[in-house]
Amino acid sequence: MKKIAIYPGTFDPFTNGHFDLVKRAICIFDEVIIAVAPSGRKHPLFDIQERLNLIKASNKEFKNVKVEAFTGLLVAYVKKKKGIAILRGLRAVSDFEYELQMAHMNRRLNTDIETVFMMPSEEYSFLTSSIVKEVASFGGSVKGLVPDEVEKALNDKFKKTKD
Ligand code: ADP
Repeated sequence: MKKIAIYPGTFDPFTNGHFDLVKRAICIFDEVIIAVAPSGRKHPLFDIQERLNLIKASNKEFKNVKVEAFTGLLVAYVKKKKGIAILRGLRAVSDFEYELQMAHMNRRLNTDIETVFMMPSEEYSFLTSSIVKEVASFGGSVKGLVPDEVEKALNDKFKKTKD
């Protein structure tokens, strides 16, 4: 049986921390589906189509990484995709409490689906999409923190808002 992991998130935008996790996960799973939540509540900088395109471009070297939008209950989506695991990243203790809550709730909703946590490389353990957006919005360089496509998209986005 194909071992499929679902990696859900907002990915606004996709960073090298996310990418680090995907690369670790494809060593363990046969396929990783990056499941992008539209996230109306968070007022994303990039709309869903922009995020999907950037994530696809960032992962084009991997045949076993798929990128899709999803809405609704995560465990229902995982079941539909025949996934066996939900992949989440743990950067620091600050991530832990919320992730533990989510993992227990998802287990309660479907006991067959495991949540698997992975830690990124140390250099990305401080990295969040929010901090990347903040730095880029003030014209700071985010080179090396995000894939090249994302760096370009951030520069374009903030150049446009300044013009
Ligand atoms: P959310 O689900 O809160 O919208 P994100 O889209 O920011 O979160 O991230 C999706 C997942 O990736 C989460 O599990 C988050 O902990 C993880 N993640 C975010 N940034 C990093 C990073 N720098 N290194 C490892 N994992 C990360």
